[in-house]
Amino acid sequence: KKNQMQIQFASSSINEGFARVAISSFVSQLDPTIEELYDIKMAVSEAVTNCIIHGYSNKEDGLITIRCAYEERTVEIEVVDEGKGIPNVDDAMTALYTTSLEEERAGLGFTVMQSMMDEVEVFSQMGKGTSVKMKR
Ligand code: ATP
Ligand code: MG
Repeated sequence: KKNQMQIQFASSSINEGFARVAISSFVSQLDPTIEELYDIKMAVSEAVTNCIIHGYSNKEDGLITIRCAYEERTVEIEVVDEGKGIPNVDDAMTALYTTSLEEERAGLGFTVMQSMMDEVEVFSQMGKGTSVKMKR
């Protein structure tokens, strides 16, 4: 049986913890292993942080949407922002690629998402926003 949810919250860094707790609480209903839960939280956390710092350039008045659905033991999660968009998704997903040179960013967020999840797909349009779809 399929179950699903959607939440939307402001692009403020205080909501990173909220996003982790919310996804964890929803996914817990299918009785995941500790490792599955940890991986899903980490992947969502990386995606939400990217919306805040890159999508909305740390402006706190943007909106972030998380959609999650599961059926049997397959979990699909989508993290969406309506921020500035990614000019080249292939470049962005390359390990160690970062546009935040002045901050201490590793350029490993997408690499973490890909290692924690079975599938990661990124859709982005300049000026319209970014959607990260993940499966586990
Ligand atoms: P780290 O995640 O290791 O702190 P990072 O955020 O720069 O560093 P990634 O998460 O892999 O690394 O993202 C790579 C690049 O993709 C970012 O530097 C940014 O340019 C771009 N990017 C990622 N997510 C978004 C987004 N939601 N909106 C706009 N640009 C994004
Ligand atoms: Mg990142």
